[in-house]
This record gives sequence, structure tokens and C-alpha cells, in this order.
Amino acid sequence: MISKFKRQTVIAWITLIAITVMPLTALAQTQIKYHSNRFSVQDDVKLGRQAAQEAESQFPLLRDEQVRGYVESVGRRLVDAIPSQFQHPEFQYYFKVVNARDINAFALPGGPMYVNRGMIEAAHSEGEMAGVMAHELSHVALRHGTAQATKGQKYGLLAGIAGIAGTILGGPGVGQLAQAPFAVYLLKFSREYETEADVLGAQIMARAGYDPRDLANMFRTIEQQGGGGGGFLSDHPSPSDRYARINREAQALRVNEAMARRDTRDFARVQERLRGYPAAPTMEEIARSGQRYPVGENTGNYPNNPPSGRVEYPSGRYQSFSIFGGGVQVSVPDNWRQINDQNSVWFVPEGGYGQYNGQAVFTHGASFGVANTSSRNLQSATQELINSLGQGNNNLRSTGGYQRTTLSGRTALYTTLRNVNEATGRPENVRLITTQLRSGQLFYMIAVSPESERNFDSAFQNILRSVRIND
Ligand SMILES: [Zn+2]
Repeated sequence: MISKFKRQTVIAWITLIAITVMPLTALAQTQIKYHSNRFSVQDDVKLGRQAAQEAESQFPLLRDEQVRGYVESVGRRLVDAIPSQFQHPEFQYYFKVVNARDINAFALPGGPMYVNRGMIEAAHSEGEMAGVMAHELSHVALRHGTAQATKGQKYGLLAGIAGIAGTILGGPGVGQLAQAPFAVYLLKFSREYETEADVLGAQIMARAGYDPRDLANMFRTIEQQGGGGGGFLSDHPSPSDRYARINREAQALRVNEAMARRDTRDFARVQERLRGYPAAPTMEEIARSGQRYPVGENTGNYPNNPPSGRVEYPSGRYQSFSIFGGGVQVSVPDNWRQINDQNSVWFVPEGGYGQYNGQAVFTHGASFGVANTSSRNLQSATQELINSLGQGNNNLRSTGGYQRTTLSGRTALYTTLRNVNEATGRPENVRLITTQLRSGQLFYMIAVSPESERNFDSAFQNILRSVRIND
């Protein structure tokens, strides 16, 4: 069956914007220079990639494509506005949302950026959120991570390239961070670097059509909401005159009006959506749980070929996974793998998934997702979900009514649908089990296999029984 969400996301319009970055007349805009750096730009990329893998195994990502896509779209505007002398074609900027309450964000060398859900919830506007992102991007564009490591090298703290990952991830000061394993990814910069990131951040903001003073405002917001302790300000120590310094720079900048964003509805919509989720854990809770998250393939990593439809029998041994930021535990046959498909998480055997006409298609496996429905009644909410699954797919048919069952100890509905697989043309059974979360959202499991293969039924039963929802 086709995954409900198209992988090609909402960012096509961003390419339009890239064309119109106007040269700004520099009145007294501060000139920033690179620090000396012994590492190559490629090293930044390599280190960041390694660190991103590690980070994603430790942090629960928010699997919500609308939220992530929105953050990505703001990020792209900013990336396109980085002044040319700080652009590195080798860098791959991408943006993900961590399901954590702390008001924080971090970026890794070479481009990966992680914005906490708490940061988006705390910001008063898109401009404030963009401000923090522009600050983070500036650290990356100025290659502060490897510049800082270069400095360390001078003092013999490093032994060659092999040691860098360790330094980036946990150089001097790691000892005190050992309690909070994730914190080692957060480079703690000197105040000098902080000022540079503030100034370049303000310049990027103006070029991207944002009011650079929103960067200063966001630091106020962070302070007011207690971002000091374990939050943003402990990773990005405030220079004494931070607020005034940014506003001074802002006076020398002209906002690129051609790019200005006047529509604030997207931001409001995303905040509204986040309010619908169960409260996010704090970074400390995440660290204390010691939970590791499988680094699944994220969007864009499906094999290019259609699913072969030839798969192994489900193994009798099960492996347990934690999904949706630890909110759901589930056990699946240990010869299946996790694929994070935007709003849903799939568990599939090799050969049971692939791409067809640019869309992710599954022939065998189980997926889990959370849907926002307008109805709070389980049956009508389920019907809404079925309608949305059937959109653009005339082959999907209900084959019976609803049966009452239980899922993780709560009332659930079970219904079966028939479909013709988009890639293989074979008829398939789609079982849908739904229940409601405390937030009122609809939690669902979909199990799909070809009609002619009954040997998946008992695996699906086992998976269903293993589901534990902690909301
Ligand atoms: Zn910083």
C-alpha cells in the first residue's frame, strides 16, 4: 500500500526564493572572518554526519512531517541567505525536530540541525524561532566547531584526525557532561564565537526577510522562560551585552523586503498542532531513561526500485522498539527493520518496501501513526482516517464493519480493507486497528500483506498484543 504521505514535501516554493536574495547596502555592518582552522570542509561534513547518527540514537525525534517540513522551510530561507563567503557547497543543511521540552536547539558541523519542540512552543513568532536557527546556522557556516578544535590542538589536546570526532563530541569538559550523554554533542562556544554567531545570525535574518531584532527578542524569551539552566544559554553563553549588540547590528541592516514574511498563519498552525501532542519529556528525562532510538532511515532513503514482494517469513524471535519519542513500545519480528516514513513508522521485512512512481510503497509490514481527526468519537474518527487513506486510491475498499477489540488495554476498533498493491498489482489485505490517545488524537496500526499470504497473520497478532502506549 502507498504510504499516506508523499515524500516530496512542501518545500518546492523555496526554490523561488533563492533567486531573489538582494545585495544589501552595507552601512556599518560588521565584517566577520573565519578563525584559523586546520580541518578541511570535508572534515566538518564527516564529523557532523557521525555526530548526527549518534544524536539521533539518543534523542526522540518528533515524527510529524507538517512540523518538520515547516521548520525545514524556515531553515531553507535562512540557508539561502547565508552570505556567499560563508557558503559551503559541501555542506548539507537539514532540519529535524526533537521531541523535548527544553528550549534548545543545536547544529552540527556540516549542516545537521535539531530544533527542540520546546523551542518552537516558546517562540512568540516565526521570526523568533528563525532567530535561534540563524544563530545556529552561523556557528556551522563559520565552522566554529572545527575552529574550536583547532585551538584545542594547539594545546596538545588532540591527536590528529582520529581524535576529532571525540573532541567535537566531547572535548575538554566531557567529564562534567558524562551525566548527560547527549550534552556532549552540544559545543559550548566561547563568548567571542557567540557574538560572531549573533552578528552573522542578524545579517542572515535581514537577508532572509526577517527582522533581525527578533533574534534579540528570542534571547529575551529564552531568559524569561528559564532557558538558562540546562537550556540554550548554557550551551551558548551570553556575551554581556548580547541584546544590545544584536540590536545595534540590526540598525546597520536593511531587511530584505522582497522576502519579508507577513503571513504568520503557518507558525500559529504548527504551534497549535504541537499543543495537541502529549507533553514532551525534558532532555534530562530522556537522558535518565537511557533509551536508545533506532537510527531508522529517514525520509528520502527508500530504495529506488519497487518492492520485490519476495520476503522472508517473519522470524519467531521478536525485538522491541520504542517509537514516537518513547510514547509507544512495540515488538516486531527481529528480521524486520524500522523505516520512519514521515508521520508513520513502518516495520517491514527486506523486499517488502520500495519506491514506485516516486512514492513509498509497502507490500508487507506493520505501520503505526497518530492522526489528528476532527471527530473525537472513535468510530467516526476512524472513518475519517479511512477516507484520508483512500484519497487518490480507488482500489481501497472496506470489506466489513468494525469490530471492537483492545489495544494496550484500551478500547479499540478493528476493520479490514482490501487494496490492490500499487507496485505489484496484487490484491492485499489491509488491517486497521485504531484507538484514542489521551490528547484525543487517533492512534493507529496498519498491517498489510498480500491476500495469498496468510503466514503473516500470527505475526500481526503478536505485534498488536505487544503494543504499549504510555501517554
Ligand atoms: Zn551559540
